[in-house]
Amino acid sequence: MLGLKNTSKRAYSYISPLVFLFALVLGCPAKEDVTEQVVRTTVCYVVKKGEVLEDILDRELPHQSTTEVLSAMKNAGFPFRYCIPGDSVTLAFEDSLFLNLTYKQSITREYYVTKGSQHLCVSMKLPYIDTVVCIITGAIQSTLYETLLEQGETPNLVFRFVDIFAWEIDFVTETQKHDSFFVLLEKTFCDSRFIGYQNILATCYNGDIGLYYGVYYMDATGHEDYYNLKGESLRKSLLKSPLRFSYISSYFSKRRFHPILKIWRPHHGLDYCAPIGTPISSIGDGVVTYKGWRGGYGNLVEIRHKNNFKTRYGHLSKFAKGLYKGKKVKTGELIGYVGSTGLSTGPHLHFELHKNGVPINPLKVKIPRAPSVGKKYMTDFEQYRDSLLKYIEQLSQPAGEEISKD
Ligand SMILES: [Zn+2]
Repeated sequence: MLGLKNTSKRAYSYISPLVFLFALVLGCPAKEDVTEQVVRTTVCYVVKKGEVLEDILDRELPHQSTTEVLSAMKNAGFPFRYCIPGDSVTLAFEDSLFLNLTYKQSITREYYVTKGSQHLCVSMKLPYIDTVVCIITGAIQSTLYETLLEQGETPNLVFRFVDIFAWEIDFVTETQKHDSFFVLLEKTFCDSRFIGYQNILATCYNGDIGLYYGVYYMDATGHEDYYNLKGESLRKSLLKSPLRFSYISSYFSKRRFHPILKIWRPHHGLDYCAPIGTPISSIGDGVVTYKGWRGGYGNLVEIRHKNNFKTRYGHLSKFAKGLYKGKKVKTGELIGYVGSTGLSTGPHLHFELHKNGVPINPLKVKIPRAPSVGKKYMTDFEQYRDSLLKYIEQLSQPAGEEISKD
């Protein structure tokens, strides 16, 4: 668990900087002897599937030089086994003579082979990796998605934010302009360039629908979850929606005029309007009890869950790869894609929830929560929660309001 007691007002960094450049010198540095006529060229390659470094070098260098470069890299401990498609190779030449090679093995690791006066010099750079805790605050302009993207964040963060509140808030139907939010999270940078999000430590959404907090907490046994301020888990046994971003075009009803059949009949589910191909997730852990074509449903998946719940997902364009009757699926697991098969006027997901064999309105049902913070750990949770909230308050204050402590 994070100790926040001694943190200062500013976001802190706790991974010590690691920059090393070591050179296994086989005779370097190269002597610079540049004349005006020298022509420098570089060629770049991205390693493709089934390709090895030797293939790429052979395209640009005499085989003898390829062998020398590879052997210098091998002697320097270059991990050839970790070369994967997507790595990049840059070769520089001076008047068609090989000058140096840069092998970028991932975003965080680079190798250099430089021609010295007599030998090749191989070096490696581990860039400066730094993880900092930051707070992102905002007010909804159109959607949460667009608001976060406008702030320079990526869809990945939006999905994680939405996932934390997936049981509490439907971000399509229940969010309004001017609702506000914050996310306290760790971001990793490589040489000052953002490379990824780490843990979301706390988050809050404040709108017409209410005030929601999500606090990440791990107890002494290693059990982790997001909790509200009372220590109740934000997770329930079933998700609120099988789609992340969509809107409901037809509600649960005892009597609805069917757009194709032109008759009044019950609509025992919710229709979610979404483009063809939108991924559909199982709303809970369960077992697939049906996968295939079924009349008006078109392509249908049916899943049995705990507590006598059952869900149906109809009109699918495709099933998820590897899905079969009898397969155990997890909450949020991909089961298929939105389509318009069967009796359907356009792309949408027909979703049904059954309890004890009877269809019920998914928007009205009370789903039990996952376990709260254990009694034994409640005091610890409360202390952590309070220190976290205090920390967030300090972070959120404009810099001008800082009180000098000396
Ligand atoms: Zn429907």
